[in-house]
Amino acid sequence: MKVLLVEDDQALANNLAEALGSAGLLVEVAGDGRGADFLVSTERYDAVVLDLGLPDGNGTQWLAGWRARGIDLPVLILTARERWSDKAAGFSAGADDYVTKPFETAEVLFRLRALVRRSHGHAHPVLQAGELALDTHAGQVTRAGMPVALTAQEFRLLSYLMHAAPRVVSRAELSEHVYDGDQEPDSNVIDVLISRLRRKLGNHSIVTLRGQGYRVSDDDREA
Ligand code: CA
Repeated sequence: MKVLLVEDDQALANNLAEALGSAGLLVEVAGDGRGADFLVSTERYDAVVLDLGLPDGNGTQWLAGWRARGIDLPVLILTARERWSDKAAGFSAGADDYVTKPFETAEVLFRLRALVRRSHGHAHPVLQAGELALDTHAGQVTRAGMPVALTAQEFRLLSYLMHAAPRVVSRAELSEHVYDGDQEPDSNVIDVLISRLRRKLGNHSIVTLRGQGYRVSDDDREA
């Protein structure tokens, strides 16, 4: 899961980015609306965390602009305490959820996971594919009920495929959501991750569709 955090308070941004990062999310930070506007126009994110009090305008104005341009990714707004009017304006502009400052970073994480899950049409926090179950809330994967230990990158890749299922996901799209912008999107790395996941989850857990990409298999006998 790749998230854009828009927050001008650098200490707060660093804390939140670190907490979300250690939960396995890829986090990019923008310190103002203009920077965020550029990033949401040029990069692919799974969600945005948007502070409303930005140095170059209210977050709701930037958000309304994104919605008007058809940018439909989930947006969680950060509002000042007891400012009901901020929340109302945020929802009017197209926000999906809010957290009130000061907040627990865990709450931001839980809300983000739920927003991303629902944006893919999944109501239940546990995603299933054949013998595989991915608990989006706990961040855990089991195969036939047995826990499977995955690295952060392996988890991100599998999580992206399971959120997207049954859609086939191209290698380019996987790279965008599994790697951060600093890393060279080397297609070979995706191959390596896929084969590591197959070793851990069973050979048929992830299906390759030649020239199209990958999807998780919902049938463990599927070749
Ligand atoms: Ca602020």
